[in-house]
Amino acid sequence: MNECIFCKIINKEIPSEIVYEDELILAFNDIEAKAPTHILVIPKKHIPSLNDLKEEDSKIISHIFSIIPKVAEKNGINKSGYRVVNNCGKDGGQTVDHIHFHVLGGRNLTWPPG
Ligand code: C5P
Repeated sequence: MNECIFCKIINKEIPSEIVYEDELILAFNDIEAKAPTHILVIPKKHIPSLNDLKEEDSKIISHIFSIIPKVAEKNGINKSGYRVVNNCGKDGGQTVDHIHFHVLGGRNLTWPPG
């Protein structure tokens, strides 16, 4: 049985506020938003982290990055700007082992991150 929390969100076993979905990916509002807009974009395929990406996954990843600007536009942050973040591994701050891209916006984001 797959215990991955994001796989459960994909399978609608756990509710989420979905902002975009197609056959390859899902985007939903982060449950603990770190900015006025905080969306997670994930592949439906279970890929644990950036370290596990295979050449064959390049279509999924390029698709994710083609959809992010559309999601940003739909949520009104494309003109003001936004940040896309991938946390990889323990020191990278990854807490869910299903690759995901944070889309953060709606406020002036500081740099560098902590
Ligand atoms: O990059 P990291 O692995 O820390 O990000 C995981 C993100 O997943 C967190 O921002 C957390 O709030 C979010 N999350 C969620 N819904 C869940 C579990 C985690 O939005 N059910």
